Amino acid sequence: MADKIALTIDGKYIVADEETSVLEAALKNGVYIPHLCYHPDLKPIGACRLCFVELGDGQIVPSCLLPVGQGMVVRTKSAEIDKLRRAIAELLIADHHTNCRDCSKSGNCELQRIMAYLHVSVKRMRPLRWAKEELPQDTSNPFFDYDPNRCVLCGICVRTCEEIQGVSALYFVGRGYGTKIAFFGDKSRYESCGECVVRCPVGALISKNARQ
Ligand code: SF4
Ligand code: SF4
Repeated sequence: MADKIALTIDGKYIVADEETSVLEAALKNGVYIPHLCYHPDLKPIGACRLCFVELGDGQIVPSCLLPVGQGMVVRTKSAEIDKLRRAIAELLIADHHTNCRDCSKSGNCELQRIMAYLHVSVKRMRPLRWAKEELPQDTSNPFFDYDPNRCVLCGICVRTCEEIQGVSALYFVGRGYGTKIAFFGDKSRYESCGECVVRCPVGALISKNARQ
């Protein structure tokens, strides 16, 4: 049995299993920390850099990669964290085709949640959007559609396919602003699984049933 570790997060006394990350301990105890690339079923990769927390000694670190420590003092909000998190989130949102009224993920979307948490106004971000053409949606799969304009490149779908299904049918393609998710040609390998769709944190992978 794992040893128990006691720590405080935003002044809340928390007891967690030894191998738990600070992000997991916070979420399990009702303390929200913004995140996009973390999923409880997958290994953490610390890619989105949204889950920063501040430790008692002032260090700012991604909480998904930080194991809980005995007596640890963690703050999830500070002026410094807010500045870093806001810069990262606003870059993402400026490049995101935000039209929540027209999105079947609305109400259950991690990016929406982050915008609300940071009080980011979509209206203010729109003029900052890089004037690139809308990328075409991939509707070739019989079960789900992929919208690259709403993809936050968190990699959850790629890691789900690899770590959970052991298939590796999804991968990143392109560079910079042109990066998107692609699917290997043999659709019979992934067409009926849907594990990536249920874990996508935003409205980028949507089941065709959800659109009906
Ligand atoms: S993915 Fe989320 S933020 Fe983007 S349009 Fe859909 S609900 Fe809105
Ligand atoms: S399709 Fe969804 S899960 Fe996959 S990288 Fe894009 S946002 Fe993440």
